Amino acid sequence: MKNIGIGASVPGRYWHGLADGRLQCDLCPRECKLQEGQRGLCFVRAREGNHIVLTTYGRSSGFCLDPIEKKPLNHFLPGTSVLSFGTAGCNLTCKFCQNWDISKARADDRLQSQASPEAIAQAAVESGARSVAFTYNDPVIFLEYAVDVAAACRDAGVKTVAVTAGYIGEAARPEFFAAMDAANVDLKGFTQDFYRKLCTGSLGAVLDTLSYVKHETKTWLEITTLLIPGENDSSQEVSALSEWAMGNLGPDVPVHFTAFHPDWKMRDMAPTPPSTLKRARRIAQDVGLRYVYTGNIHDETGQSTYCQGCSACLIGRDGYTITSWGLDVQGCCSDCGALCPGIFESSPGRWGARRAPLIVAAA
Ligand code: SF4
Repeated sequence: MKNIGIGASVPGRYWHGLADGRLQCDLCPRECKLQEGQRGLCFVRAREGNHIVLTTYGRSSGFCLDPIEKKPLNHFLPGTSVLSFGTAGCNLTCKFCQNWDISKARADDRLQSQASPEAIAQAAVESGARSVAFTYNDPVIFLEYAVDVAAACRDAGVKTVAVTAGYIGEAARPEFFAAMDAANVDLKGFTQDFYRKLCTGSLGAVLDTLSYVKHETKTWLEITTLLIPGENDSSQEVSALSEWAMGNLGPDVPVHFTAFHPDWKMRDMAPTPPSTLKRARRIAQDVGLRYVYTGNIHDETGQSTYCQGCSACLIGRDGYTITSWGLDVQGCCSDCGALCPGIFESSPGRWGARRAPLIVAAA
């Protein structure tokens, strides 16, 4: 642990002073401009004197062992457990938020757990987790803590996973993603109107992040789109999203279409029917994307991985459970030898669908 007290405010990075005396946070495209004592929209970054600080360093809403498939990541250490945690706050304002109790929380409401980066890495080793995931709320807003945890994890031989909306400023991208072995980036819709109306964000910034991660980092990338009936699930929009992914990221970036459940400020909406997810998967496959998955429904076909060389089932899945394995030790198809892109070990993990809360000692 660096000489930083856990549970403390720490100096934030990525901000600059303005001529009118305010400080502008450059961590995300919102570019909050803060007077003394003010907090940014994410609530966890604040101006204290002539600095912007992160107010939640070392504090968490709790720890849990999850299946890696739940992040969702299907081409990254399949079948293994991931030690998952989040903090509080968020830099988007999605009306359909599926983790609103955390993302909308004020720090003192939710952050009962404290843990140093080394304690988290040690807990991952002791519990057998192959990776640690920054999830539940967006790790971009607690970058300084996430980067320190990632460094401790790497020292301990544990990989790192960001589950993020990709709403991050250009200056902060290199440091953030250099610390992450894998990322699942939410592409929440494919119109600026959707981002503006439902998230008060910007589609272009997220597309820039996706291109950056794919082409300028070593981070393994998968994408998730939560399909919301009547909002972002039209065939036209799914087709446009898929064509953009194919043209800008290539055919091998896995795409997950997942089901919306009524939540937060969109409780009067119906859940996404399985037929919508299956339609989206077909559209994306027709465009040329090779690894397209459905999520949050029971669909063994839509959740399994197939060989692009011979169509053999490479990784069978039933929900979060691995049911068959057809990869050799190099991560190639055992039948035809075609490479399956991703990060694989010689055999899958055996964690299954379990979810196990975990106590992590403070230091
Ligand atoms: S990280 Fe927070 S304070 Fe900084 S620009 Fe984004 S919302 Fe504002």
